[in-house]
Amino acid sequence: MELRFPDSDVCVHLYDLLEEAETAAGAEVANTGGALQAVHFLHLCEESLQVYGTIPINSLADLDQSQYSSSAQRLGKLHLVWASLFHQQEPPLGYLVLQRPLVGLFLGEDDEDASRTWVRVEVPRVRHSTRNLTIGVRCCMHCCRPIPLERVRAVPDAYLCVGCKSTLERKENSNEPRNHNSR
Ligand SMILES: [Zn+2]
Repeated sequence: MELRFPDSDVCVHLYDLLEEAETAAGAEVANTGGALQAVHFLHLCEESLQVYGTIPINSLADLDQSQYSSSAQRLGKLHLVWASLFHQQEPPLGYLVLQRPLVGLFLGEDDEDASRTWVRVEVPRVRHSTRNLTIGVRCCMHCCRPIPLERVRAVPDAYLCVGCKSTLERKENSNEPRNHNSR
């Protein structure tokens, strides 16, 4: 079954089982080339659909650094497990095919699994027919890694992990004296 992810031009295929999603996504990569992102979190926000997950480090070999933050990501299809739409799927929720050249990626920091890295893919939102929504385990906007559930429960609007939040706060604090002087 094929449809579009709400308010985006991302084509979605739905499957009963994760293995089926993986097989189909793998076949698509074999046909079109590109990298396979294991999807952990989907976030439809005001401006864009953000897809968080991991890709193999070796698929970044030909990443064009000059196009790092371009929004012109060439996307294949999003292969999702049905259960993810009902918040009943353990990550990964499915797979997103990223065609080459890989652009529009936001990279996380080093991962524990040295062979994969966390990335966020941003696709411009084209309509506003639905409210903002999230599917999956919420990931940090800065390092792209999952935010522990305890933090999400304690701070429902947290989109940064504790580590990144304190790092950013430290930076802000160290900038403060300069701001005061410049006023
Ligand atoms: Zn973080």
